[in-house]
Amino acid sequence: MIKAVRGVHDILPAEAAAWQHVEATARQVLETHGYREIRLPIFERTELFARGIGEVTDIVQKEMYTFEDRAGDSLTLRPEATASLLRAYIEHGLHVQPKPVRLYTMGPMFRYERPQAGRYRQFHQLDVEALGEEHPAVDAELMMMLVELFRALRLADRLQLEVNSIGDAACRPAYRERLAAWLRARAGELCEECRGRIDRNPLRVLDCKNPACRPLLDTAPAIRDALCAPCAEHFARVQRYLDASGLSYVVNPRLVRGLDYYVRTTFELTTTDLGAQNAVAGGGRYDGLIEHLGGPPEAGNGFAIGLERVVLLLGRQQAVEAARPVALLIPLGEAALTRLLPLAEAARSRGVAVDLGYGARRLRAELERANKLGIGHAVIVGDEELTRGEATVRSMTTGQQRGVPLDKLPDELAALRGQP
Ligand code: ATP
Ligand code: MG
Repeated sequence: MIKAVRGVHDILPAEAAAWQHVEATARQVLETHGYREIRLPIFERTELFARGIGEVTDIVQKEMYTFEDRAGDSLTLRPEATASLLRAYIEHGLHVQPKPVRLYTMGPMFRYERPQAGRYRQFHQLDVEALGEEHPAVDAELMMMLVELFRALRLADRLQLEVNSIGDAACRPAYRERLAAWLRARAGELCEECRGRIDRNPLRVLDCKNPACRPLLDTAPAIRDALCAPCAEHFARVQRYLDASGLSYVVNPRLVRGLDYYVRTTFELTTTDLGAQNAVAGGGRYDGLIEHLGGPPEAGNGFAIGLERVVLLLGRQQAVEAARPVALLIPLGEAALTRLLPLAEAARSRGVAVDLGYGARRLRAELERANKLGIGHAVIVGDEELTRGEATVRSMTTGQQRGVPLDKLPDELAALRGQP
């Protein structure tokens, strides 16, 4: 038997309802906030990600699915959506629209990571971007929307919003040097991964999940004290807007993002309910990235939600039931089947879900099937019923039966909807 590739997973029918619920809720919240969907390709030129995510990031250095196509072009399965979304934004001139341009997209992402619960090689993200607006209110509004989405899913009380500012090109380089020197002096106390990052990407060291590194890293110089005046002012205003909205959040001075291009505001939505995989969503501001990808010098801002982790949080308790048929139509023989097939279709075309036996099983077996599927009514048509032009409608709960003219059956089935 050929099995699925390690780290990728099927979403089975029993889970699909929860996925649809998350997606529908997200669309509703996003659209009331003025976001419009954009659908993007799953692979792009490798250089787009190298440039858009950053050469020194984990993603680009070791997590990408990169391949050559038959023409020898280097292509990569997208590890995240922002780079593709900005590529499309620039390519199609979407930046001529009034700002901010609000876009979202959903779909699979691909990263070569060590698979474990909540961490896969193909996973799904909802990606949201607000483009072309520098105002700090956008940062706050994005976080408010993110939390609102989880409120709508009744998950907000299991999540914490963490916020930080990581400065910009004016203040970060000096902080980066100071931090690197501080880390170098203590390299012996850090894990191998941290040591490897000190020179490449020292801010990322702060993000280390290794419990052995945490106590030391918590005493590292905080960027908050190194922000330039405009960055400090921006961060203060973001917090003022969040406070005014009553949103609860914590400032986490160690919160940096894995991707290179973030400036100023970064944020994460975390949970203690999923073990080591504690980040459910992450985002922040990336002014300068659009220009870096060949577009106009515009601000950018956004976040991505890991949908597997949302579905895991929803768990079984909120499993959303799939629509159950109102009746099982049971033809006893070929003539009855020929009569019932179009009647079933007529009911379905009115939006009434019905199931149909094909006349191959005995009545008893069909009634058992209706019980197993939890269907409330059986509609039985045998030769006798056919001569009378009637169906026998039987309640599976009470066993009560009554005759219904066959040509009235679609109406009758519609009326049964919503009855036990
Ligand atoms: P992590 O620290 O968990 O590796 P990240 O910083 O790499 O996360 P982002 O690139 O910010 O994650 O992606 C946003 C969200 O996508 C994460 O918060 C997480 O919920 C989800 N995510 C990231 N990688 C995976 C994965 N391999 N499998 C499942 N979900 C993932
Ligand atoms: Mg990661």
